[in-house]
Amino acid sequence: MSAAAEMPRRLEGAAPAAAVLLRAAELAAALPRVPHLHVIRLGEDPASVSYVRLKDRRARQIGLRSTVHALPHETSQAELLARIDALNADDDCDGLLVQLPLPAHIHARAVLERIDAAKDVDGFHPLNVGRLWEGGEALSPCTPAGILELLRYYEVPLAGRRAVIVGRSNIVGKPLAALLLRADASVTIAHSRSADLAALTREAEVLLVAVGRPHFVTADMVRPQAVIVDVGVNRLSGETEGRLVGDVHPQALEVAAAYTPVPGGVGPMTVAQLLLNTVLAARRRRGRA
Ligand code: NDP
Repeated sequence: MSAAAEMPRRLEGAAPAAAVLLRAAELAAALPRVPHLHVIRLGEDPASVSYVRLKDRRARQIGLRSTVHALPHETSQAELLARIDALNADDDCDGLLVQLPLPAHIHARAVLERIDAAKDVDGFHPLNVGRLWEGGEALSPCTPAGILELLRYYEVPLAGRRAVIVGRSNIVGKPLAALLLRADASVTIAHSRSADLAALTREAEVLLVAVGRPHFVTADMVRPQAVIVDVGVNRLSGETEGRLVGDVHPQALEVAAAYTPVPGGVGPMTVAQLLLNTVLAARRRRGRA
């Protein structure tokens, strides 16, 4: 085999994200009314402002309707819940999400639980979380669902394989475990209290890392020829200010058979999956699926 053939394969998000967006646009076009996404944002946190702008822009690009509710940082919990109640009751709202993180005076769990589960396009409502684990029809959290879609697109086999996730957040690690189980992988979830993390990660045929620490996974932690999914998005400071890097060290990627790059790997899948969730929510509410 030539050296070139052994180069790890880059699993770019652009093509599978375009496929998800196309599917969302086609499903939307078959509905009698254009699906409408509503995004509530509190305050002016720059990362939140830019994520919400991207969601709004992409939604319009594929022909969905999108409304951003930009509320002041000081908005009270009661006011926020009242806005959610109004959108829950509004038949013209198909998908509703509240951008996280929320200001400290807001109780995030109460907010997420207030959203109508049928419109919960982020998939964070306990009903959707429960259905996800139970194997029922759920709106799945966008980043994990996007990762599964990316792996499917590149025909990475999961059934019967050893998958190790580093990170156990409600947004990434836990729902990712549920989806990998549904895909018949054998799943381990590691976290900050795991003993001998490197021994666990070296067992992984598919290693998925969502820690939020730049270059956290080093080459000695990776099983040769593993498939690596790097979920981390870390903005560097100092000399390389502003540069985005993942949770996996570049030398660790060289050991792999394939990996998702940062940026350009998992990132594009998240917004695409959000818009697909919006269309799926609209179809289900209107009895089309
Ligand atoms: P959280 O901070 O909520 O969770 C981080 C997880 O990493 C925790 O479970 C924590 O363990 C674990 N962890 C921290 N330190 C260690 C350690 N030393 N050893 C093992 N495990 C450790 O982060 P998120 O899940 O929200 O996000 C993770 C990363 O993914 C971030 O970089 C984020 O920016 C990125 N992200 C990217 C998205 C995308 O679209 N590309 C979307 C969402 C997130 P413990 O629970 O024990 O504290």
